[in-house]
Amino acid sequence: MTLFEKDGSPDLSRRVFLRGTGGGLMLGSGLGLIGSAFAQGGGGGPVRELPPSQPTGPPIPEMEREMPIEPGRRLGWAVVGLGKFALNQILPSFGESRSSKLVALVSGNRQKAEQVAPRYGVETHNLYDYQSFDRIADNPEVDVVYVILPNALHAEYTVRAFKAGKHVFCEKPMAVTVEECETMIRAGREAGRKLMVAYRAQFEPHNVEAIRRVREGEIGALHLVTSDHGRILDPKDPADQWRMVKSLAGGGSLYDIGIYSLQAARYLTGEEPVEVFGQIVNKKDDPRFREVEDRMAFQVRFPSGAIANLSSSYSTSSVKRIQAFGEKGSLILDAATEYESNKLTLRTEKGRQEVKMKEQSQFAAEMDHFSQSVIDNREPKTPGEEGLRDIRIMQAIYRSAQEGKPIALDATGSLR
Ligand code: NAD
Repeated sequence: MTLFEKDGSPDLSRRVFLRGTGGGLMLGSGLGLIGSAFAQGGGGGPVRELPPSQPTGPPIPEMEREMPIEPGRRLGWAVVGLGKFALNQILPSFGESRSSKLVALVSGNRQKAEQVAPRYGVETHNLYDYQSFDRIADNPEVDVVYVILPNALHAEYTVRAFKAGKHVFCEKPMAVTVEECETMIRAGREAGRKLMVAYRAQFEPHNVEAIRRVREGEIGALHLVTSDHGRILDPKDPADQWRMVKSLAGGGSLYDIGIYSLQAARYLTGEEPVEVFGQIVNKKDDPRFREVEDRMAFQVRFPSGAIANLSSSYSTSSVKRIQAFGEKGSLILDAATEYESNKLTLRTEKGRQEVKMKEQSQFAAEMDHFSQSVIDNREPKTPGEEGLRDIRIMQAIYRSAQEGKPIALDATGSLR
């Protein structure tokens, strides 16, 4: 399945309806029940009467979100690495997930793991460290391993998780080198397990809506994408310390946040680059950028003639913006890739309109998409091949910056 097919993407329009009927409850098709006479339940699909219960209170209100599947059918996830992103974004998001549940933690700091585990209902016997991690093979509660470590450790823990017979959900960027990505993909195939890269923006409602509108021609032929991702790299923040070390991060702002700009250009155009051109700007005496790049300006050309002007920076105040310019209008996502409260604006000759989307956790959505892909034995929306392609393209952008000239790419994203 490609990035852009509707199948497999979160269906933001689905609703589930529950009704009190006096004698019992009826659940709409969103819960996947098999139906009978009361097919007017709002979801439009078949419904079934549940066993009668006493009409003891007011009816259950219309449900605006699908309820989770039963705990016993949800896939068990182990989170590897209890850093800033895992603790602040991912662990809390399990509370909003429908088909994924947190069952195990892997951390180098036992005290931290023991503090965190009870808050999320993780049992002490499901705590691992990096040495005991491989014993996860003997834990039938764990179906999926979520790797949230510094980039250079993604490949090792993905391969070890596959060897333990688990499916793997891996943070972006997928790995440091093309070879590592290929090894990860091969290991998954050999183990007969699935691999997905955590490209949350492809599950973020405003981005999903922007893609839909571009595909449906609302702004006409798409000619230009611009996207900028920047923030200040803080050497005092432990989460930024490894980001300054090339052997752990793999690259600088491009690998870390420029990848969102690149992804945006690819998912909005729905095309793959034929040529890239990059330029790096580093202040000579800034100790943060001895090993990795600060600012990267890069241009990506697509087969249709569409151009993307993209950037990433570790020395500008926060920017997370994506813009798509077509013949008949433009779509502006600003902010585009915040964890929440993103904003989508449509501009056409009729004027300017803010497109309101219902907030929905992009983290829960991407995790549930993967769990559901495993349950249904389907290819996930952003498999390892998708992560590999970005690493190939970013490597070409670095090379272009080094050589000072555009680099042509073939259909796989490799150098032509
Ligand atoms: P972090 O430093 O806060 O977390 C990394 C964790 O790995 C820490 O718990 C650290 O102790 C542990 N670790 C294990 N071995 C280590 C080693 N050798 N050196 C350093 N740390 C080690 O970093 P983070 O910001 O949480 O990023 C972790 C991963 O998540 C990265 O791949 C990053 O790109 C990704 N991330 C993704 C998003 C997103 O929006 N999808 C956001 C932030 C980070």
